[in-house]
Amino acid sequence: MAAHDRMQCDLIVIGGGMAGMTAAARAAEAGARVVVVEKAPAIGGSALLSGGFVWTATSRAQMDRHDDGDPALHAVVVEEFPHVMEWLRGRVETGPPVRVLYGRGQQIDIAAYMRGCVASVEAAGGFVVPDTQVTEIIMRGGRVAGALTAHADGETELEAEHLLVATGGAQADPDLRARMVHLAARSMRLRSNPHSDGGGHRLAIAAGGAMAGPNAGFYGHLLARGCPMRGDSDFVRFTQYHSIHGVLLNGSGKRFCDESFDDHSSAQLTLRQPGAAALLVLDARAQREFGVSAPVAGAEPIDRHRLAMEAGCPGGVFDTIEEIGAFASSIGYDGAACIATLLEYNRHMKSGPEQARPPRESNGRALEEAPWYVLEVDSAITFTFGGLSTDTRARALDAFGEPIPGLYVAGADVGNVYRKGYAGGLALAATFAFRALRTAGLQPTC
Ligand SMILES: Cc1cc2nc3c(=O)[nH]c(=O)nc-3n(C[C@H](O)[C@H](O)[C@H](O)COP(=O)(O)OP(=O)(O)OC[C@H]3O[C@@H](n4cnc5c(N)ncnc54)[C@H](O)[C@@H]3O)c2cc1C
Repeated sequence: MAAHDRMQCDLIVIGGGMAGMTAAARAAEAGARVVVVEKAPAIGGSALLSGGFVWTATSRAQMDRHDDGDPALHAVVVEEFPHVMEWLRGRVETGPPVRVLYGRGQQIDIAAYMRGCVASVEAAGGFVVPDTQVTEIIMRGGRVAGALTAHADGETELEAEHLLVATGGAQADPDLRARMVHLAARSMRLRSNPHSDGGGHRLAIAAGGAMAGPNAGFYGHLLARGCPMRGDSDFVRFTQYHSIHGVLLNGSGKRFCDESFDDHSSAQLTLRQPGAAALLVLDARAQREFGVSAPVAGAEPIDRHRLAMEAGCPGGVFDTIEEIGAFASSIGYDGAACIATLLEYNRHMKSGPEQARPPRESNGRALEEAPWYVLEVDSAITFTFGGLSTDTRARALDAFGEPIPGLYVAGADVGNVYRKGYAGGLALAATFAFRALRTAGLQPTC
């Protein structure tokens, strides 16, 4: 693009991750000339770090049951999902249908998908431009007219009637995390691409957009405390997906959540505990049956406890519950309370699980088979749930709730789809990309 300092196109996409590349490729297939402006040296975003499981809840009612985000936005994900899957199956190798949490989906070869998207954009005369920033969304007469971009070779003015903001959230900015999520989130570790720092939010707000309102939720997971974070493989290897089969204890030795709900939900609540950490306890049976198995059919089975121990993370394998207490005390937890809570939990699971506080909806088994596998865990963030005010047609809204002509939002930049639960990040990205194109009239006709 260096040769042009002014260029016309049909659609500008800010951010070349799942949402951005999906929208770009699909619009290109409809004959649109698209320019994707990507801040990082390469496209792919968090999508390229992901396991590639494109999944969501099987119905809106089910999503509403598991998450208290905006039901109208839930509906967008559920309605567009079959179209997204059909399209993906036609473009890239997909695995068999699998159950993921309370939904269903298929694994795709995400790297091949991204390559295919770039090829589609370029075949239609468009560009995918890495290492480039949008400095301003140009507005004329209250509607999108283009964008100013800055790159190493200088500035380019792009002219277009349609612009999609798809920068993947705000999780990479510690100050924004502290403001949007929780004070303790400032030092929360990042389990995502390092570029999604709210840049898309700022650009859209400068163009008249608004934030969707408070939402402290985030998608993340429990990771072994202090584990290496050298990149995508560590993000997955140290994630404690199986925490739903264990018990979590805070510094006061108390349970603080229904661990069985899901690891991502426990990650949100762990952040709010003193020290923003917890002890994850599994007994031998839970470790054998779940601790070393693949979280989703098709994913790699890994002994995550052993890996964490080898990496020097706080934890251990203990022959008695009293030994767990001693270990807990040695790292600053109330060891006596940890013992009391574990004994009481086991009593409740055997005599009347409904007595457990907090309640335990599923996986309610006593943890009584020695040895016990204990690991200190803390939360890492993949994307913020707070974001831009967006309607069900994927249009950015202003502070009065009015759509801004030509300005669309997709993926993790969309605010308030999820709040406490989660029903897929890749699906959230691709479905809103589809919806934005539908609204803009830039989707293929067949
Ligand atoms: C380890 C891991 C495993 C995961 N596994 C799964 C899974 O199996 N299934 C699932 O559904 N989800 C999974 N996810 C989550 C999923 O990857 C994300 O939810 C999804 O990629 C979000 O899509 P997006 O397009 O909104 O953001 P991204 O895919 O992150 O793309 C955003 C892009 O915008 C770029 N960008 C940021 N700021 C700017 C700017 N100012 N200007 C230009 N470009 C900018 C970024 O560099 C990035 O390329 C996983 C995530 C991780 C980290």
